[in-house]
Amino acid sequence: MQFLDVVIVGAGPAGIGMAIELGKVPGLEFGILERDRIGESFRRWPAQTRLITPSFNSSPFGLADLNAVDATTSPANFAGAEHLSGQQYANYLNFVAESAHLPIVCGCKVLEVNPDPEGGFHLVTELGELFTQFLIWACGEYQFPDLHPFPGAHWCRHYAHIEDWQVLENGPFIVIGGYESGLDSAINLVKLGYKVRLLVRKPTWDMPDIQDPSQILSPFTRERLREIESNDLLEIVFDANVVEVTRENDNVYRVHTADGRYWDVSQMPILGTGFVKGGGARQIRDLWEWNNEDHIVLSDVDESTNTPGLFLVGPQVRHDNRIYCFIYKFRQRFALIALQITQRLQLDVEWLESSKHGAWGPFGNSECCEGCEC
Ligand SMILES: Cc1cc2nc3c(=O)[nH]c(=O)nc-3n(C[C@H](O)[C@H](O)[C@H](O)COP(=O)(O)OP(=O)(O)OC[C@H]3O[C@@H](n4cnc5c(N)ncnc54)[C@H](O)[C@@H]3O)c2cc1C
Repeated sequence: MQFLDVVIVGAGPAGIGMAIELGKVPGLEFGILERDRIGESFRRWPAQTRLITPSFNSSPFGLADLNAVDATTSPANFAGAEHLSGQQYANYLNFVAESAHLPIVCGCKVLEVNPDPEGGFHLVTELGELFTQFLIWACGEYQFPDLHPFPGAHWCRHYAHIEDWQVLENGPFIVIGGYESGLDSAINLVKLGYKVRLLVRKPTWDMPDIQDPSQILSPFTRERLREIESNDLLEIVFDANVVEVTRENDNVYRVHTADGRYWDVSQMPILGTGFVKGGGARQIRDLWEWNNEDHIVLSDVDESTNTPGLFLVGPQVRHDNRIYCFIYKFRQRFALIALQITQRLQLDVEWLESSKHGAWGPFGNSECCEGCEC
């Protein structure tokens, strides 16, 4: 049994970035537990997938690279690329972790979290037991795909289970879903010369009233779509609310929409329909409060509202209409959580001044800046 002040679960960008922030607190004893490898989700991306947010080394001029989790580093510089592949980004995370000597234990899945009535958490892991005063959950979404968005979805292949588009057998293909992963699937398949029918509810690339980049197709994907839009290999079907997939015989999968239309295809349809709400936070479902849209309710400082001492970092963090699903968004919350923990442990908070007004910006909301001049 080991005792720590803080344990972070998950070594993706949220866990690594959070750990960099905690590493600035003198005297804090913390560790990171990762069930697989650093950046595991990125290592599982399809080989052709690229980060949609561009990287550029803007930090010498006081503005961190959009995809950095340590403001002194730049994924663009590290990989020599503007849109990194999953492998390149995972290698960047590894480099950040090694350079900062972060205390990470890989191959250590957290199996159980038992809150202690006196405060703190008993963790049961694959490698033994551990007690921690504070717990930061950073388990992401990618490894928790929604495999059952409608009846018959088990006849489909989910985007998160594709390692490389090149290894799929001959098309034509049906892709279900009109957002980033659906479009990425369709674009890659068309580029390989396959016929693709893309079924979408609405054109996420043509919604001028929406400003939040988390709700509309990224410019990177729009640009790639434009390149193939006039290609005969691509057919986009709009208003397609898929409600079921059936297997008609050994060679035919049938995709049905709510309005009674259907399409047949000989290859398993591809699901670009997303991930389970709450993602990896569902592993400790009862330790969070969930709202009626199935999102996690958090305090102003990203703490669970029913389990004191448990914090959430990463793309599942939401506050009203603010969705922190990109790295450049959720990294703004790291210093806020680090400050909370530091104060509750009555440790020195001087380190914070540089973080609070540093490259990440003021915690991603306006309240934190009341009374100060930034
Ligand atoms: C195709 C695609 C493209 C994207 N492009 C961008 C982009 O361009 N820019 C951007 O900002 N965002 C992008 N995103 C979103 C971004 O990838 C996620 O927001 C980000 O990965 C979340 O980081 P994370 O650390 O929370 O989760 P993850 O990277 O998933 O890390 C979670 C880690 O937790 C580990 N874990 C899970 N459960 C346990 C457990 N019980 N015990 C121990 N370890 C555990 C996992 O193995 C994993 O390593 C994209 C997502 C996808 C799917």
